[in-house]
Amino acid sequence: MLEIKNLHARVTGTDTEILRGVDLTVRPGEVAAIMGPNGSGKSTLSYILSGRSDYEVTDGDILYNGESILELDPAERAAAGVFLAFQYPLEIPGVATMTFLKTAVNAQRKARGEAELTTPDFIRRVKASAADLKIDPAMLKRPLNVGFSGGEKKRAEILQMALLEPKLCIMDETDSGLDIDALKIVSDGVNALRSADRSFLVITHYQRLLEHIVPDTVHVLYKGRIIRTGGKELALQLEDEGYATIIGEAA
Ligand code: ADP
Ligand code: MG
Ligand code: MG
Repeated sequence: MLEIKNLHARVTGTDTEILRGVDLTVRPGEVAAIMGPNGSGKSTLSYILSGRSDYEVTDGDILYNGESILELDPAERAAAGVFLAFQYPLEIPGVATMTFLKTAVNAQRKARGEAELTTPDFIRRVKASAADLKIDPAMLKRPLNVGFSGGEKKRAEILQMALLEPKLCIMDETDSGLDIDALKIVSDGVNALRSADRSFLVITHYQRLLEHIVPDTVHVLYKGRIIRTGGKELALQLEDEGYATIIGEAA
């Protein structure tokens, strides 16, 4: 589903490479965890995959379903099924969460050549997904993320993900800012979306999230490169030993 080949990238207008040759393959249905110390390039990788214009790829390629997506803008990537749940969700004053969701879902459907949802049909879907994520319906009337707690923002991200039905879900440190109850709710929401034709890139700094969203593979990103790949036990090893041992071995 996703094949990242020798990916090099930097912030546009700078000459310091943040990604320095990332190689990563994710199969359909796979949940791949990306772990790494702060500053490794985890968020940069998620931005590059979603097509943010202030980052540029200087070498390598990203294949999605076998085709390069480097020339696609973020909206085209989203229409093709790529979704990014932000580490720091943006507040959008003046736009009710419900309005935002309806606009996003219908734009997505239009791009896919599907009919727009009727309002009652849309509301039914939002309410069902919101209930699964224990989101208070009153929150949906408030401007997107404005005044939401850290946990509410992350749940709102997963609500968007559930409604947009992406094929490649990228979650950037969704666990940060979540207490243990919210972590469980979010993880249950994500696990319910797991399927044979949907893949996840779960970016996290800590092993804790991976106790709830159990990954098929774990990759350690350090200084812009994957320095170790393993199974879910690799996350446990990191929890015990920290990153130092693996970094030392890679060096
Ligand atoms: P992580 O998500 O793993 O903590 P990031 O992708 O946020 O790492 O950052 C990787 C590196 O790139 C860091 O050294 C960071 O300072 C640098 N970086 C990120 N964004 C910018 C930017 N806009 N301009 C310059 N350097 C940046
Ligand atoms: Mg960071
Ligand atoms: Mg980050």
